[in-house]
Amino acid sequence: VMKVKTDIEIAQQTELKPIHVIATKLGLKESDWEPYGRYKAKVSAHTLKKLQDHADGKVILVTSINPTPAGEGKSTVTVGLGQALNRIGKKAIIALREPSLGPSMGMKGGAAGGGYSQVVPMEDINLHFTGDLHAITTANNALAALIDNHIHQGNSLNIDPRRIVWKRVIDMNDRALRHVVVGLGGQANGVPREGGFDITVASEVMAILCLSNDIEDLKKRFSKMVVAYNYNKEPVTVRDLGAEGALTLLMKDAIHPNLVQTIENTPAFVHGGPFANIAHGCNSVIATKLASKLGDYVVTEAGFGADLGAEKFLNIKTRAGNIDPSAVVIVVTVRALKMHGGLSRDNLKKEDLAALKRGMSNVEKHVETIKAFGLPYTVAINHFISDTDAEVDFIKGWCADKGHPAEVAKVWEDGGAGGEALAHKVVSVIEEGQKHFKPLYELEATIEEKINAIVTKVYGGKGVFFSEKAKKQLATFKQHGWGHLPVCMAKTQYSLSDNPALIGRPNDFHIQVRELKASIGAGFIVAITGNVMTMPGLPKRPAAHNMDVDPNGKATGLF
Ligand code: ADP
Repeated sequence: VMKVKTDIEIAQQTELKPIHVIATKLGLKESDWEPYGRYKAKVSAHTLKKLQDHADGKVILVTSINPTPAGEGKSTVTVGLGQALNRIGKKAIIALREPSLGPSMGMKGGAAGGGYSQVVPMEDINLHFTGDLHAITTANNALAALIDNHIHQGNSLNIDPRRIVWKRVIDMNDRALRHVVVGLGGQANGVPREGGFDITVASEVMAILCLSNDIEDLKKRFSKMVVAYNYNKEPVTVRDLGAEGALTLLMKDAIHPNLVQTIENTPAFVHGGPFANIAHGCNSVIATKLASKLGDYVVTEAGFGADLGAEKFLNIKTRAGNIDPSAVVIVVTVRALKMHGGLSRDNLKKEDLAALKRGMSNVEKHVETIKAFGLPYTVAINHFISDTDAEVDFIKGWCADKGHPAEVAKVWEDGGAGGEALAHKVVSVIEEGQKHFKPLYELEATIEEKINAIVTKVYGGKGVFFSEKAKKQLATFKQHGWGHLPVCMAKTQYSLSDNPALIGRPNDFHIQVRELKASIGAGFIVAITGNVMTMPGLPKRPAAHNMDVDPNGKATGLF
């Protein structure tokens, strides 16, 4: 039996081109970018301004059905499709998020694609990369230190320590830090108060990095962040503390998109990495726009299912970055659809057309959602070697019956060559497709109306229940003049509802909004639903236990 190579083995056997070759191929001048070692570079965010008169390439968004523990392979298909478009003669650039160490050490392992569709060097990308996550964590925590110090030094802003909403962050899944008490130890050690940590990728600093159009925009957004309320219950901002300059300085390199390559030397920007369940789930606006100025096609991904990442890409990111998407690719797998049809994870290798048929209800909802946004789409069947022909044919037949464009992608096994059919299909839906893209709610609508629109039009639910706390917050947010902002839903990724156990296509449900969070710098109101956590925990057997490094510094077990 042939041994299947792991992602890291494939990545380590790849012959990478020096990064200047990739940058030059993109048409970048040496002054536009700076090398970070041999195979990584940061391309200056200012390049975007220089290229503003260039035509925009077509933006292709890759999304998926609700994920299951079986894995969907969105990043893999994103990379594979980018490689395939290049193989069929299109100038395509990939724009992905950068991984967080939380899921890498926890459930998921790496997040740089898989098989023969990966971005490399995968160890670097999956570990500390170019330090962006460090910069975000540091900027976030510098602000936390400035707030606590302000109170210690006399609290001239009259901050109510019980109403500090700014949390510390760390790029790790660490449930022990969800609730902490700081400032213990007596008078010399600050003012005691309750606080807590979020994971870095859920922080507003990350969201701002990803939604800013340039460094001035970054600073402006930082200055608007609300960190606390004073004893008169009025918001206290970063501008009040005079901290926006320092925060922007800490982020001055992080704002430049990171350039790497795929296994087939296709250029890829890997920049910014908010999660799609507890944040907005998209890579940076600057990277996506830069890719669209430098290429004819950008293939970009938004996290988790179309109910989370894609919804936020289409309602939030397109507005912040003035991005006009051209088409959506909806990734499905036989395995995940069988799980949506009720099969347990242990039985996935068995052919089961009945379960598959039941599971199609999940993809059906997501297709309806993308249609509601007015975008052309293709279903991409991410092929696993364990899929049977009958199962793949079933999905193809189902799509054909309903009139949904669909194509099998064998990009994990065969790289770009396995994605050519998908690439042709995507190009054709863009060229022939009827596009009338429109976000699913107007900004003028109230926050309640926006949440209701998302729940009914995207999740397929009946409506929304607000907790007493959330109702109070709605009233104060309106008073503060924040009602016009878009909404960033925080919801479980596993279900269209806020209950992870409701797989497939639930329809008779309401969403519970537990509390709201004002991310005024990012420019959205976060609605926290169900039991979703902004600081995840590690699973029973963390992926970290499989990881190692040999005496030569070669990594193993990063998937
Ligand atoms: P997502 O972006 O949806 O989270 P990824 O692309 O990161 O998913 O893939 C998750 C894992 O599944 C990776 O380890 C990847 O190698 C694996 N994977 C993805 N597609 C396939 C496939 N077709 N066959 C086998 N493994 C795959």
